[in-house]
Amino acid sequence: MNNKSNNKNNLKDSEILGKVLFTEEVIQKRVGEIGQSITEDYDGEDILLISVLRGGIIFLTDLIRAVDLTLSIDFMSISTYGFEDSATGVVRITKDLEDPIENKNVIIVEDIIDTGLTISYLLRNLKARYPKSLDICTLIDRDVRRLADIDIKYKGFTVGEKYIVGYGLDYKQKYRNLKSIYELKTHLVKKDIESIKLDSTYQGT
Ligand code: 5GP
Repeated sequence: MNNKSNNKNNLKDSEILGKVLFTEEVIQKRVGEIGQSITEDYDGEDILLISVLRGGIIFLTDLIRAVDLTLSIDFMSISTYGFEDSATGVVRITKDLEDPIENKNVIIVEDIIDTGLTISYLLRNLKARYPKSLDICTLIDRDVRRLADIDIKYKGFTVGEKYIVGYGLDYKQKYRNLKSIYELKTHLVKKDIESIKLDSTYQGT
């Protein structure tokens, strides 16, 4: 057992974490506002929220509690190939939805949309299953690197180039449990981030 005051593994003390971009309070407030908008927009309707594993789950679990409608949730998991330089985004579904979405009001809930290639693939794939409606909700929009033309109905925040972690977003599968969103000190992890993005078997979220 580590002595608490001597704990070198303390999450927020990690030397790779840079400044806080969005605090827990700011995130919770924004999630509440998005939940309110969804509640108003789909008044009188059932909705299905689909989260893309794994990054989107923290946002999803907070968001559904901010929505005052009858709703269901489902999950997909994907792998992305040719992540940065492919014009189309080659994506493989590694875990599909449990239930059909035909005639349902579907909202895809994402952690971050960057190039937009992943979500474009998902949109094409889900549209072919004849949902009643299909919308996108992302906590973070990084539009400076966008390659695909997509219409985001609900977004929490916009960020610039820097790689971010926390509130579901990982760095090497860690830091998802941070309650705030942080920038990474990219000079410490630059090579790693480049290799994450160029890895041919990079797990989309
Ligand atoms: P896109 O296809 O839009 O380029 O890819 C979006 C996916 O890339 C996100 O779901 C996420 O997994 C990953 N991603 C992009 N930027 C970041 C970032 O700054 N931090 C983290 N943790 N993941 C990111």
